Amino acid sequence: MYQFNFHSPKNIDDAINIYNSCEDPKFLAGGMTLLASMKQRLIAPSDLIDLRAINNLSEIILNKNTIKIGALCSHYKIASNNIIASKINKMIKLASGIGDPAVRNMGTIGGSLANSDPAADWPAAILALKCNIITNNRSISSNEIFTNMFETCLDESEIITELDIEIPEFFNYVKFPNPASRYAIVGVAIAKYENKVSVAISGASHTPFIAKELSEALTLNFSNNIPLKTIPSDGLNQDIHATSEYRANLIDVLTKDALKAY
Ligand SMILES: Cc1cc2nc3c(=O)[nH]c(=O)nc-3n(C[C@H](O)[C@H](O)[C@H](O)COP(=O)(O)OP(=O)(O)OC[C@H]3O[C@@H](n4cnc5c(N)ncnc54)[C@H](O)[C@@H]3O)c2cc1C
Repeated sequence: MYQFNFHSPKNIDDAINIYNSCEDPKFLAGGMTLLASMKQRLIAPSDLIDLRAINNLSEIILNKNTIKIGALCSHYKIASNNIIASKINKMIKLASGIGDPAVRNMGTIGGSLANSDPAADWPAAILALKCNIITNNRSISSNEIFTNMFETCLDESEIITELDIEIPEFFNYVKFPNPASRYAIVGVAIAKYENKVSVAISGASHTPFIAKELSEALTLNFSNNIPLKTIPSDGLNQDIHATSEYRANLIDVLTKDALKAY
């Protein structure tokens, strides 16, 4: 590892002031992606600004119709939380299926969203759910945050502080994991609210995306007996793990699988 400066601010304002005073800084959460990228010399930030000493970024709070999840909550913390277990139970399964125990203990939900890996699990789940991503200076709807592969609409010095999720009537996320990393070769997230169903897909494109026709069909008839609107394979990812046709088929299979829990 090469030399860099390390900062551990106690509040958001200090974190942003430090960020603005450094040459090439990066915020650090769980470090599961950031530190690996530094070790591989893919990036070489001059300064790491650790967000973990900032108070109140790791809480999970139940309000009337919503759950607030602090950005610094680890996957493990979410997987073992009683509020999540009682209100959006299948999030437990999602969080428990991420990587391995070390990744789940260190990696955070905020880091996962900021990183915007198209094969990650939280981005598709958050896209399907009615969710606002709260930062130090604004609220961003989950359908606006992911702009491209590993890109978001966050400004450089913007910090995600929490997620505000409207509790759905039904939620499930099912993935076909890469056997080595556990990242999704394809993942399907389904969130049902009173008047709207959203199906979001991970692993199949350069960003997580809403499967529009599938969402509309399930909004009209929420059942695993309806014929699914198969997504055309053109434009889906094609790599050593799976062809685009295989991924298109996985979307159908995983959608039916996810609906079985209803
Ligand atoms: C071996 C391995 C297997 C994995 N398997 C999976 C998997 O199966 N499914 C899955 O979904 N993910 C997987 N991951 C990813 C992991 O779960 C983390 O979510 C991910 O690495 C990023 O979270 P982090 O907290 O570690 O962020 P970091 O690595 O600390 O940061 C990542 C990026 O986000 C920025 N950032 C972090 N927090 C914030 C914030 N609050 N506000 C603004 N910017 C911020 C950082 O500056 C950095 O650019 C895996 C990772 C590894 C190493």
